[in-house]
Amino acid sequence: AKNTGNDGAVVFFETDMGERIEQRLTDEHKLRLGIQQGQLRVYLQSQIYSDGRLHGAEALVRWVHPEEGLISPAAFIPLAEASGLIVQIDRWMIDHVSALLGPLRESHPQLKMSVNVSSECFQCDDFVSYTEECLQRYNVAPSQLVIEVTESTMLDNIDRVVGKMIALADSGVSFSIDDFGTGYSSLYYLKSLPLTELKIDQSFIRDMLNDPNDAELVNVIQQIAARFKLSVVAEGVETEAQAEYLRQNGQPLMQGYLFSIPEPADQWLKRIEPGLEKDEH
Ligand code: C2E
Ligand code: MG
Ligand code: MG
Ligand code: MG
Repeated sequence: AKNTGNDGAVVFFETDMGERIEQRLTDEHKLRLGIQQGQLRVYLQSQIYSDGRLHGAEALVRWVHPEEGLISPAAFIPLAEASGLIVQIDRWMIDHVSALLGPLRESHPQLKMSVNVSSECFQCDDFVSYTEECLQRYNVAPSQLVIEVTESTMLDNIDRVVGKMIALADSGVSFSIDDFGTGYSSLYYLKSLPLTELKIDQSFIRDMLNDPNDAELVNVIQQIAARFKLSVVAEGVETEAQAEYLRQNGQPLMQGYLFSIPEPADQWLKRIEPGLEKDEH
């Protein structure tokens, strides 16, 4: 490093950087290994109609590390996105969610299962064929699969994304915008993309009973959804007071700890279909 007359600080900075890069490589290696060694799990969280009936579930990934235990997505999705490993994770989820949905085709034809798909995964040339192959492999009714994207996915490369969304929508897959209102929302998406659903971000739901601006935002999103004939899910519903307010305002679908926390997929399935046992044993 150049002698800036402040060598200590320069050296400290470089050491710190080096350590951080090393740490990231270690973490990345750990995650890569975890994926290979089957440490990912599908968790499911119910989505319910305001009258209490079950609509479906959102699939959320968990990493079960042999020493560290259950690791939540907040702790590894950013690294997965930065390293490109997110593509493997999302594909693994699409495969596993398809495997869960296939057997429900006859018994629960109306049930929806949604999966979060990152921008990186969407950019892959074979994303459409990969997803269609999963649906075919497990005999899934495409209408039962919902893909959740965020506003930033559309921002990343709208032209490449639109074509893929339209191709999958033509096959019957639905699309939902997650965390709606927190990104760079563009009304342009609403007219040009094959969307079926908006998810009101949990931050608006959390504060809507105290902050009139949040209540107003919730209301605006509900109205946008209604005008564009989209379904709308309120995320992060934690209290009966929030649920009651939403019901009074005609909110059709809700998801949150008040109704159920995300739980291992087999446990969730047993709850909705008590007779369902895995073939394996
Ligand atoms: P998200 O898609 O917006 O999922 C909702 C998150 O809110 C989940 O966190 C869920 O556990 C949590 N949640 C549900 N109900 C409540 C509630 O009542 N209160 C509060 N405070 N939180 C609630 P989770 O499972 O930790 O996932 C965090 C984020 O990680 C997800 O946000 C999603 O963006 C991402 N993610 C999760 N699984 C995947 C995946 O398979 N692929 C990709 N690309 N991203 C994923
Ligand atoms: Mg989501
Ligand atoms: Mg969300
Ligand atoms: Mg999110």
